[in-house]
Amino acid sequence: MLIDFHTHIFPEHIAERSVAALLAGIRREQGDAYCESNTLIYRPATLDGLLDLMQKSGVDRSICLPIATKPSQTETINRYAEQVRSAQALSFGTVHPADPDWERVLCSLAERGFRGIKLHPQFQQSYIDSPESIRIIKKCEQLGLLVMFHAGSDIGLPPPLYATPERIAHVLTETDGSHMIAAHLGGWDMWDDVERYLVGTPILMDTAFIWKFLAPEQCLRMIRNHGADKILFGSDSPWEDPADTLRYLRSLGLTAEELDQITYQNALRILGENASA
Ligand SMILES: [Zn+2]
Repeated sequence: MLIDFHTHIFPEHIAERSVAALLAGIRREQGDAYCESNTLIYRPATLDGLLDLMQKSGVDRSICLPIATKPSQTETINRYAEQVRSAQALSFGTVHPADPDWERVLCSLAERGFRGIKLHPQFQQSYIDSPESIRIIKKCEQLGLLVMFHAGSDIGLPPPLYATPERIAHVLTETDGSHMIAAHLGGWDMWDDVERYLVGTPILMDTAFIWKFLAPEQCLRMIRNHGADKILFGSDSPWEDPADTLRYLRSLGLTAEELDQITYQNALRILGENASA
């Protein structure tokens, strides 16, 4: 079984516009050449597009991660996310740290059966160790919601960096972090700092959008030192083909048991499902 814990989809009518805006950001920050060689977008970036890519790359289930960049978008996005709930694809919800209604939003998501939320400190311009983010993270812990969040740099957004490994470590003084998932192996393009501040803590990490950027030796060392029981397979589809992510992970020299943990067992455990399924 293969579970992809990090994917993005958009409703049909805004998918192309949303992808174009994200690509424009990457072009602005990194230049044309970088954008062309590092951002392979699988279109359409919709639920149908995702299901198609999953079938081609052998993914059985995907977790979709929506992001509200303004508090006013929250309810519309969560209503859409609620519809994405099938055997193959499941969506987390979203909340904006600056939303005065954040607590009601989280309680509502928990009541509606969501398994977790996605925060994007960079897009939402909210430091992961700010009081606004920490109160959300602690409330999610109480409600049994997972908190997935973008960590490290972002190729399409300028500094400051809102969720560095050091800032994430500050959060771990307020909560044990076992319900938190730091995307991009703890901090995109900040992996030395991940080793310094986060490896060995209870926090979970995913493998999204790392295979072109992180040296295999360092990746293997990080997974072994952190614990393969806290690593989740994630591709960041449509920005990456899950088959490429899997090929990279298989090339690292992990044991079959470690690969099973990463590719589906850990996901089933944190979703509260039976690992023998
Ligand atoms: Zn992502």
